[in-house]
Amino acid sequence: MIVGNWKMNGLSAPSRALVSAIADGLRATPNPPPVVVCPPFTQLAVLGPLLNGTGIALGAQDCHPAPSGPHTGDISASMLAELGVEYVILGHSERRRDHGELDETVREKALAAMAAGLTPIVCVGESADQRAAGEYQDAVGWQIKGSLPDNFNGIVAYEPIWAIGSGVPAPVQDIADMMGFLRAELTRQFGEAGKTTRILYGGSVSGRDASDILPIAEVGGALVGGASLEADAFLPIVRAA
Ligand code: PGA
Repeated sequence: MIVGNWKMNGLSAPSRALVSAIADGLRATPNPPPVVVCPPFTQLAVLGPLLNGTGIALGAQDCHPAPSGPHTGDISASMLAELGVEYVILGHSERRRDHGELDETVREKALAAMAAGLTPIVCVGESADQRAAGEYQDAVGWQIKGSLPDNFNGIVAYEPIWAIGSGVPAPVQDIADMMGFLRAELTRQFGEAGKTTRILYGGSVSGRDASDILPIAEVGGALVGGASLEADAFLPIVRAA
């Protein structure tokens, strides 16, 4: 599965052009993987109708834990579902950083997303300092414990913060080690269900290295930021999958 995280990018005209170029590319790709685009909230209603029949699913980048109520500026999971959104990225490190989101909040958001019928994509990943200090497994292990509800039914994205937006993905061996660790943690926490939870890698994935990263054991796809903003950059990753 290849998921495009557009972050805070995308006015209407270029967003429409981007999804139509991705759709054209997918039509020309034999056996494409599941593809999800996660534009900003403002483009969801614009793009939803354009995705019908393209094989591209719609995702959002956040939701509020509550179903409705006095939360100025926030968007609930059911509001997303009403627009045809199927996936929602939760607990991205940029939200943890910019909005002080804690594991507990991410867990509540995941519950709200599942209650609305959405598939949460919960992001975890260590900082450069945690990696340098050798604390990366502890850090990610705590995020897994704290951010995923007991009945979790969704996707986990491992995104080392030091690799995001850096232009250089984590080394293959580091990804492989963390994937093994994550699979063990998920299995310990969720039993049988944890053995099949899809795990994505994210952090500077591009067409250059997708064919090295995607075959790593336990990698079930990629969460792509910068390279999801142009069809020419995104489609080679889709094809590598
Ligand atoms: P990047 O972003 O591909 O630009 O590193 C990935 C992400 O933050 O989801």
